[in-house]
This record gives sequence, structure tokens and C-alpha cells, in this order.
Amino acid sequence: MKKFNDITMIEGIGFDSNIYLFDDLIVDTGTGENFEYVLNSIKNAGYNITDDIKRIVNTHCHFDHTGGNRLFSAKIAIHELDAPALENGDNIATAAYMFGKTLEPAKIDFHLKEGDKINDFEVIHTPGHTIGGICLYDGEMLISGDTVFADGGFGRYDICGDLNMLRESIQKLSELDVKYLLPGHGPAVSNGSEHIKLSNRIIKGLW
Ligand SMILES: [Zn+2]
Ligand SMILES: [Zn+2]
Repeated sequence: MKKFNDITMIEGIGFDSNIYLFDDLIVDTGTGENFEYVLNSIKNAGYNITDDIKRIVNTHCHFDHTGGNRLFSAKIAIHELDAPALENGDNIATAAYMFGKTLEPAKIDFHLKEGDKINDFEVIHTPGHTIGGICLYDGEMLISGDTVFADGGFGRYDICGDLNMLRESIQKLSELDVKYLLPGHGPAVSNGSEHIKLSNRIIKGLW
């Protein structure tokens, strides 16, 4: 577990995404397969899972970020373009089949779009890894889902994604001033903009 300003990072184990916890909400929930570890981490961060976590924000629909949603009694927010995959229990679009799992259809409470506010964070629509992928940005920290990772990484675009969209999204992110890059997988880093600019050069074939 790590802390970046007010954000607690629960590092994903197994196939789980990283999970971020702040205010009254949780960003992504992992596969749900390692829930005891997630639950203990949440407790250690000083949160009560039922009383303190009111909302789940999913960065995108993939199973490794949304499979754990069902274990929380919280309202779910996801971009309007990725919402149908969860609402329909679409095992292809959510990539649940790749994990040998199925996802039950789920009720989505908030359909997010570009510019929406989540407490101090703004929703940035970053399609490419999925069509409804989002990042959350507060002027200093970027929760980037599977759009960009540290060390020049970026998400796959071959699971219902699009390379050109991903290029444009990473270009957009590379123009932000990012101190902490808090990605969906792998380590968080404190010189975020440098890492995102590297991803931008690599995806454009300039490296
Ligand atoms: Zn992922
Ligand atoms: Zn993903």
C-alpha cells in the first residue's frame, strides 16, 4: 500500500488492476479474485468498506478493473461508452473470457463523460484501450487506467480498442502537467509527465 497526497494505492496482485482509494470512493476494483487482500488493504487504510465507500469509478470496462465491483455495495460510475459492456455482461468487451470468467450484467448509476467532475478530479475521456476509457486528473495527479503506464508503457488496443484513438489520447495526456502518474498496472511514479512523454514517443514510433 502506498500513499500519494490523499490517495491510497492498493497494488494489484495476480491479474488485479491497481486500486485507488480517496474521499468516499474507490477507483477500480480488480478481478475480485483476491478480495481478502483488497479488503484488508482497505481496512488498513482506515476505511470501512460499507460505510465509507459510496462510489466505484471504473477507468474502463475490463474485467481486471471491474470484476470486484459486485463485492461492494456502492454506486458505479463509468464512461457512457464503456457502460453498455457492464450493463449487458458482455464477456468479450470486458475481456472476462480471457480470464476464464463471466461477468453478470450490472446496474450502472453514473454514465460519465469528458469534463465531468469527481470531487477534485476531472474526467478525461481517453479512448483507445477501450472506447470509453477515462483518466482522472486534478492538476497534479493522473489516475490513468490502462491508457498509459510508467516507463513508456501503454495499454493494448487489440481488445475492442483502436490504435489511432490511443495515439490521440496519449498525445492529449502528454500535454498535461503530471506529477504523480497512478496507472492501472505496475508502479506509480512521481515524475509522471516524463513517463507519459516517453509513452507518447513510443506509440508514435519516434523512439
Ligand atoms: Zn488492466
Ligand atoms: Zn484494460
